[in-house]
Amino acid sequence: MKGMMMHRPLKIADLITFAADTYPAGEIVSVRTEGDIHRTTYKETAGRIARLAHGLKALGITESDRVATLAWNGYRHFELYYAISGIGAICHTINPRLSAEQMIYIVNHAQDRVLFVDLTFVPIVEKLRPHFPADLRIVIMTDRAHMPETTLEGVLCYEEILDGQPGEMDWPDFDEDQAAGLCYTSGTTGNPKGTLYSHRSTVLHAYDMCVTIPRVLNEGSRILPVVPLFHVNAWGLPYGAPLSGSSLIFPGGALDGKSLFDLMDREKVFSAWGVPTVWIGLMNEIRQRGRIPEGFGDIVVGGSAASRSLIEAFEKQGINVCHAWGMTEMSPLGTQCNLPPEMADLPFDQRIDRKQSQGRRIFGVDMKIVDDAGNRLPHNGTTPGHLYVRGNTITSGYYEDPEASKPVFDKEGWFCTGDIAAISPEGFLTITDRSKDLIKSGGEWISSLDLENIVMSHPGVANCAVIAVPDAKWDERPLLIVQPSDEAQPQKEEILCHLAERVAKWQVPDDVVFVDALPMTATGKVSKLTLRKQFPEAPHDA
Ligand code: AMP
Repeated sequence: MKGMMMHRPLKIADLITFAADTYPAGEIVSVRTEGDIHRTTYKETAGRIARLAHGLKALGITESDRVATLAWNGYRHFELYYAISGIGAICHTINPRLSAEQMIYIVNHAQDRVLFVDLTFVPIVEKLRPHFPADLRIVIMTDRAHMPETTLEGVLCYEEILDGQPGEMDWPDFDEDQAAGLCYTSGTTGNPKGTLYSHRSTVLHAYDMCVTIPRVLNEGSRILPVVPLFHVNAWGLPYGAPLSGSSLIFPGGALDGKSLFDLMDREKVFSAWGVPTVWIGLMNEIRQRGRIPEGFGDIVVGGSAASRSLIEAFEKQGINVCHAWGMTEMSPLGTQCNLPPEMADLPFDQRIDRKQSQGRRIFGVDMKIVDDAGNRLPHNGTTPGHLYVRGNTITSGYYEDPEASKPVFDKEGWFCTGDIAAISPEGFLTITDRSKDLIKSGGEWISSLDLENIVMSHPGVANCAVIAVPDAKWDERPLLIVQPSDEAQPQKEEILCHLAERVAKWQVPDDVVFVDALPMTATGKVSKLTLRKQFPEAPHDA
């Protein structure tokens, strides 16, 4: 027998309509690319979103069309999130840090119809335009007065798309499984892979985060997403904040410690969310000034492992650190490490020990760890295994990529995270290693295999490997280890130049180590495990 309750589809537009009705004064404050600060409310924003949605329809955008964004965190980007998905189209956020090759691939793979671009990124689009679909429309996210000189033909101006459109919208109903957002993960080898979020998964994720992190997501709270809107929906904050009545403070492109400190101080930010690298910059600023920003009480740190010293430094300043783990494919939240009340009175060191773990699962995410043969391992806190997840906010396959989708699900349909982890009897997850061959630098992926392929094309190289070494600022940096071909004596600089011509600058390793022979595994692969042991850190002359 079925229950007899109404079935209304879960829709993203309902989040902003709810916020406008219930928290009309909830704020969105943005540092604009034009250089000033912009302030608005959920109520005003809902009106602008309606105007933008009408404008998108006037441009010919219809259900399931992909509309791309290349933009910082700001109110216009937020408006796009809602207007695009509200009319049933798909908001495809593009990471501006991708290499030219990857960006060209994803715009063509997604078959984007319109690309919304912030002033800062216009030069990137000018360079890549010839490689994008011929009929792609480009909109610059500013007003007429700030429109730049550009070689791009037929560009549109964001504010002019809103001009004259009605400030109300009867948001259409569609199946809650309708696609709403698309985010490519650039991590692995080969081409980037797209995670296609639905209205249902997005709204459920917003509920999940509000229920799991009520300390931060509540009415009147002021939250700074340093985590970009172009990376996994800024960890869900554009949805969780309006649902809970929290205000959003968007930092634009200025993410250095000083700019963040000033913004947080002025706007009385309570909780700031981002990758460890960002918090190292902020902590330096806090130390220099000898105080924390006014109103500051909490950080959510994830995307890479937060070090003990980082957690300790913030906790010593009285700032609660919530270490979180997740993935693009998980919307992204998987676990969070706010401590339960029974651990609140633990001695400081023991609390920090706990906080170094990635914490407990959020509602809706099931986790299991298995051995190489797929057998379940105990949750005893000490036995590590391959971490698999399942739930309503987790991908069921990559967008238009059956080849890449196949290997990441097991027989029971669980998704393989590529992380190695142990789970304690109390449910605390500790990530111990990664089985995927990747480096995460400043929150961004670098594919070691891609770098290796390029280096191998250098005539002086017989074999090579790229491994991650810990870095105080970027968490990890790539270290290149080269076995020269017989007689060749390639110079460090020429190999790095060879790479620099082919990948983004920040992906180029900081150093090259030459060895006579690389260690091999039984199956004839370079043993990265051995190399990691051999080079636990960057060589001292790096
Ligand atoms: P992405 O899809 O780019 O967000 O990357 C997800 C991956 O980042 C995870 O599978 C982990 O390898 C890594 N990651 C994210 N958060 C953490 C964390 N708190 N500790 C360790 N690794 C993390």
